[in-house]
Amino acid sequence: MQIFSEFRKIKKGFYVSLFLIAIVAIVFVIFWPGLEFILRTNIERLSFEKWGLSEKKDNNIVLPSKELKKTEEPQKNPLGKKVFAPILAFHHIATPPASVNNLDKNYFVDAAKLESIIQELESKSYQFVFVSQIVDYLERGLVPPQNIIALTFDDGDEDFYVNAWPILKRYNIKSSIYLMTGAHTAKYLSAEQILELDKSGLVEVGSHTVNHPFLTHIPKEVVIKQLKDSKDYLEKLLNKKVEIVCYPFGLTNKEIEAVAREVGYRAGLKYNYNFWQDPNNLMEMSRLGVMPNADIMKLLEKMRK
Ligand SMILES: [Zn+2]
Repeated sequence: MQIFSEFRKIKKGFYVSLFLIAIVAIVFVIFWPGLEFILRTNIERLSFEKWGLSEKKDNNIVLPSKELKKTEEPQKNPLGKKVFAPILAFHHIATPPASVNNLDKNYFVDAAKLESIIQELESKSYQFVFVSQIVDYLERGLVPPQNIIALTFDDGDEDFYVNAWPILKRYNIKSSIYLMTGAHTAKYLSAEQILELDKSGLVEVGSHTVNHPFLTHIPKEVVIKQLKDSKDYLEKLLNKKVEIVCYPFGLTNKEIEAVAREVGYRAGLKYNYNFWQDPNNLMEMSRLGVMPNADIMKLLEKMRK
């Protein structure tokens, strides 16, 4: 009898373990895209912090000069090596509301911080350019001037218009914004605001898809629709070509990039911790996500060496 009760115990334990494994598997499958994003950005951030100079070991780069100087004539890059062309990625320009959790607080940079970053960059003679200008250099096989930098803002939150735009306008600074064309609530930029920003000549508008899906986890026909519809919407609104896409969560793969190219994008932006651009892979341009307390000058210095 004892053997039977032991057996029952083992059997029960077996079913309990099976149940737990099933629960973990289900949770994993449901939350995998989000987990992938968190893991990937954190791994990239950590590896950047720890191995910030790792690109230096790469022989396939054009080493920038240590001295920051204005170069009117860009150099040629016949071998198509990676070039230093920093793109900063911001999300909210605001103080995070109390309801925001610690992880999401990383997506908030307050207006004073943005202004101090701009002042520091200006004091070091950085020139602010649109992302399309960097793409122009890369497409033409040129090394961009050493002192250029692009500021990008994702998602089209209204706080861009309320908090960032007055500063960018005051300093007469170019920036690029990536919009979700399916976001029409008061929280997001209105069509009038987008038109005003575009007409100013200081803001370049790009696509951030229709409603920010995990592109790597949806069927191809939905990817096509997300990339194409957002492009069409913005082109109709602005009456000009929209040729740069910023992948939601920075998630992309070769198939998505092929679709992006097919529907007419010249370049695609990822979200990672790197300032180096590969002219042979314009569909995977690097951006550094700006954390609320980031020391941008230090990062630029570190990466430039
Ligand atoms: Zn986004």
